[in-house]
Amino acid sequence: MELSIGFLKNVALAVYNKINPILGLKQNIDVIAEEVIIDCLEKASIDILLISEEIGEKYIGNKEKATKSKHKLIVDPIDGSNNAIRGIPFCSTSIAFALGNTIDDITKSVVLDLTTKNIYWAEKGKGAFLNAKKINISDNDISKNCILEINLPMRKIVEELTKYSLITKKFYRIRVMGSTALSLCQIAKGSVDAFVDLVEKSRLIDTAGGILIVKEAGGKIFSKHGNNLNEKISIDTKFPFAASNAKLECFLKENLKKITLNRY
Ligand SMILES: [Mg+2]
Repeated sequence: MELSIGFLKNVALAVYNKINPILGLKQNIDVIAEEVIIDCLEKASIDILLISEEIGEKYIGNKEKATKSKHKLIVDPIDGSNNAIRGIPFCSTSIAFALGNTIDDITKSVVLDLTTKNIYWAEKGKGAFLNAKKINISDNDISKNCILEINLPMRKIVEELTKYSLITKKFYRIRVMGSTALSLCQIAKGSVDAFVDLVEKSRLIDTAGGILIVKEAGGKIFSKHGNNLNEKISIDTKFPFAASNAKLECFLKENLKKITLNRY
């Protein structure tokens, strides 16, 4: 049975109810959030492969049925754990449902802001929403006052910043917010114009929920080499990427290419 968007929202809300009161207070909230999700799936007798940060890959319900259907739930129980533990109000729970083995098979996703209770969600081919309101990417080209979020590896941060200055210097402001899923939703609703995540070990579980929301809002998301992201769905899948409104796609792809080829 395919999971409904309503069910996915309810799972995210169950995480919110448990986690919001303890934001900034507890260390092991990732595990607590994941337990809430597993409990919701088990109570609803769902047969599915759960791919989640703490447990890795685990079949819920009937393994044979889950394998046959190829249904998968890709979850980051808390995306932005450092923010959540320290009480910085930018963290989320991210849930993506897929009907097959690759990123393009994701058909539904929900990202819930654990501070505000705002729910970002999307269904393939039906648009992206913030609560009941349809959302869209911004319309800014690089000549406007564009806002960039950039995530760089902390090791060699100065060298990395210099390396990517070809891109950063064209932007009006830079932000580093700390929850990939929620950051992708900022692109989807047009608050941020581009997000470049150049950390090689950025994981699919962090991005899965946001990818469909960005695409359904009219945004673009691609590898740092400018390719379509259609990686295999797995707990081990990791990749750097860039996401943006439609007008910044060419600018980002061209400049990422120059930087990768060392021609700048
Ligand atoms: Mg997490």
